[in-house]
Amino acid sequence: MGNNTWGADPDGTWPVTRSQALTRLDEFVATALAPFGAHEDAMLGAEWKLAHSVLASSMNLGLLHPGEVAEAAEVAFATGDAPINSVEGFIRQVIGWREYVWGVYWLWMADDYRNKNALGATRPVPPAFTGEAETEMVCVANVVRHLHDHGYTHHIERLMVLGNLALTSGVDPQAMTQWMWASFVDGAEWVMLPNVIGMALHADGGLMATKPYASGGAYINKMSDSCKGCRFNPKKRTGDDACPFTTLYWDFLARNEAAFKGNHRMGQQLAGMRRLSNLDEVRDRAAEVLVLLDSGRL
Ligand SMILES: Cc1cc2nc3c(=O)[nH]c(=O)nc-3n(C[C@H](O)[C@H](O)[C@H](O)COP(=O)(O)OP(=O)(O)OC[C@H]3O[C@@H](n4cnc5c(N)ncnc54)[C@H](O)[C@@H]3O)c2cc1C
Ligand code: SF4
Repeated sequence: MGNNTWGADPDGTWPVTRSQALTRLDEFVATALAPFGAHEDAMLGAEWKLAHSVLASSMNLGLLHPGEVAEAAEVAFATGDAPINSVEGFIRQVIGWREYVWGVYWLWMADDYRNKNALGATRPVPPAFTGEAETEMVCVANVVRHLHDHGYTHHIERLMVLGNLALTSGVDPQAMTQWMWASFVDGAEWVMLPNVIGMALHADGGLMATKPYASGGAYINKMSDSCKGCRFNPKKRTGDDACPFTTLYWDFLARNEAAFKGNHRMGQQLAGMRRLSNLDEVRDRAAEVLVLLDSGRL
């Protein structure tokens, strides 16, 4: 990425010592663990971290042990300070997902996992992501602002906004990995590679996640407050005001139909795509959207 200096100056949010990390852990358990479960998948433009812990960088740097983070949550449940859905959900992220990703990295790296590109995706990272262009897509603008200001976005913003658009538009997985690694405060090779190559971009052909995390604007509309302020309509797939996520979702399915044919978890989506009465029109609009996206005019 060269000398990429995009992003706000550090403001002291991120722990850089053991004692700062312990303070952050205490603060999370006292103030945000209880609402974590109910808000884990929500996205709000004005709330960069919602009820997330922002502890990944501390664990990745070795300032906190994942075991003590999980134990702190367990104690909050035992003392009645946090409900079961939040505590179970949070502990599952730490000792479930985090450890699974660690295992994926060491299990498959030998097979050159980092260079996988099962869907043959070759587009550059959109200028709308990198700050090289303003974007009219409010969901993307919100997430990119969070990233600019804090070097962080929470998981669903990474997966269902940045990852989803990169997946459905066909961004090169290695370019996306490099960009995310350079842009996120908690970026590290072992965790970035499986999450981008495997989980977000399905570039490993389904080794890590059996089904691609692709969706149209309906998901973002349901989970965020972005669409109501956006000039695009999440329900529309054609026309100038069609949501780019929705258009690209259907085009992605059509483009990769052969690759997903044997995947029974994709049967319903493919059947839906085949039933569209105006698929040709959708694909024409998708071609326009991709040109706009690449040139930073979307
Ligand atoms: C495209 C993409 C790229 C990602 N890149 C990174 C990365 O470089 N570094 C990183 O630490 N995480 C990465 N993640 C995983 C996850 O998004 C972050 O760990 C999480 O958002 C960090 O915020 P938090 O500490 O507030 O987490 P919380 O939402 O509070 O979750 C608690 C903890 O669970 C762990 N966790 C949850 N999901 C995952 C996961 N999928 N993989 C690994 N750990 C997980 C993290 O340690 C996190 O701190 C990525 C996810 C995606 C989809
Ligand atoms: S309408 Fe589409 S582009 Fe606009 S905020 Fe919603 S999902 Fe994003």
